[in-house]
Amino acid sequence: MTARPASVIVVGGGPAGAATAFYLARAGVSVTVLDRAHFPRDKPCSEYMSPQASRILADMGVLEQIERAGSAQLVGMRVRAPSGASFHGRFADVVGYRGYRDCGLALRRTVLDHLLLDRARAVGAAVLEGTRVASLVRDTNGRVAGVEAVDSSGTSRSLPATLVVGADGLRSIVARRLGLAGTRFAQRRVAFVTHFTGVEGVGDSGEMHVEHDGYVGIADVGEGVANVAVVVPRAKAKAAAGNPAAFLNRWIHRRPHIAPRFARAERIGPVLVTGPFASASRRAWAPGAALVGDAADFFDPFTGEGIYAALRGAELLSAHVIDALRGRSAREADASLLAYDRTRVREFRGKWAVERIIGAAVTFPGLMEIAARSLALRPTMADTIVGVTGDFVPAREVLRAGFLARLLLPWKVGAGRAAATLTSPES
Ligand SMILES: Cc1cc2nc3c(=O)[nH]c(=O)nc-3n(C[C@H](O)[C@H](O)[C@H](O)COP(=O)(O)OP(=O)(O)OC[C@H]3O[C@@H](n4cnc5c(N)ncnc54)[C@H](O)[C@@H]3O)c2cc1C
Repeated sequence: MTARPASVIVVGGGPAGAATAFYLARAGVSVTVLDRAHFPRDKPCSEYMSPQASRILADMGVLEQIERAGSAQLVGMRVRAPSGASFHGRFADVVGYRGYRDCGLALRRTVLDHLLLDRARAVGAAVLEGTRVASLVRDTNGRVAGVEAVDSSGTSRSLPATLVVGADGLRSIVARRLGLAGTRFAQRRVAFVTHFTGVEGVGDSGEMHVEHDGYVGIADVGEGVANVAVVVPRAKAKAAAGNPAAFLNRWIHRRPHIAPRFARAERIGPVLVTGPFASASRRAWAPGAALVGDAADFFDPFTGEGIYAALRGAELLSAHVIDALRGRSAREADASLLAYDRTRVREFRGKWAVERIIGAAVTFPGLMEIAARSLALRPTMADTIVGVTGDFVPAREVLRAGFLARLLLPWKVGAGRAAATLTSPES
């Protein structure tokens, strides 16, 4: 394990860590990323990125590479409630707002995360793979002053740093050692994620099928491969013990509207399991340290926004870290980290509220049923919701009382672009 002394140590080289390191290194800050994994590494994820994520990827100079790497373009989202009522929102059809792109991108995380980390390296970040952070080093005032890291040979070493960034995902060791890790009040779910070829009917929109016992997301991730993610309440996941692949197969084959599409499908990778999620740090900073990405908070994969939140969080954090490093005292540095936390809350709180509403509809499928029928009648509203999850429509558009009231009126035909009929895959 060799590293030059870094001003900033970033724990975790996923999208949050790679982007934080990129922005810091590009600004001339000495930064070292430590990741316990060796890249390319996989990560359980539906692998979809919102249209607005492309703005940050372009800023990082990696968007073209991602597009050339075989990513799929997704024009919107199709959501189906248990009865078959469904709605389809398209990014390009949102009234009054335009995303950085009219499409989201989907690319396998083995490829995406490797590209992002390489980009951070290219602008000067040092990266130590196979290096697991076990705990934090503190100075005599209790301020974080580095990390204790263990390399692949088991050798442990203290690495000093002026600031430590925890970008180490769900169950972040940095958040736990800072005493900031917490659980969100939400149904706790577990995900089973894999890749198939040969799934029939995979189109240019992501699909979410909500059932009474969880949901499944299906999306093209490029080159004929579909990402399939079954997400179930923790209690139901116990049935998967020891054989997640059999559990995923059973779950899919019990759905008459999905099973035939898998008749000729071939699973081409392991079934990765992760969860339960719904975690949130009490705050995203402590003296000498800050949290970003899933380490700071993660709700549920349904809205598919974790990667954008990781990239956007990194963009916000890096500006404040640069400020903190310029501070003349620890107190000034901490003021910058506190300002980061406040900016982050302002940036994301609207989205957190929308996530909670969507989370409630997934937990209580009766609500999803009403919303799906209502949105099938009001395609403009469906586009707006998909635009919010696409990160280019402000959450306030969905949180307005009038919008929420119409969402719960499945019988009233509003003005829309299409015939006011319920769409159902079975009809
Ligand atoms: C089932 C599922 C589906 C999802 N689908 C989507 C989607 O379609 N679109 C979307 O935008 N988001 C999705 N998400 C969320 C998304 O995967 C995360 O929000 C995103 O990966 C967060 O990035 P990150 O960099 O914060 O964390 P991660 O990507 O988890 O990276 C953390 C890194 O930290 C490293 N690490 C962890 N502990 C240590 C340690 N002690 N020492 C050193 N390194 C360590 C890990 O090896 C890892 O590389 C989904 C999540 C789940 C669970």
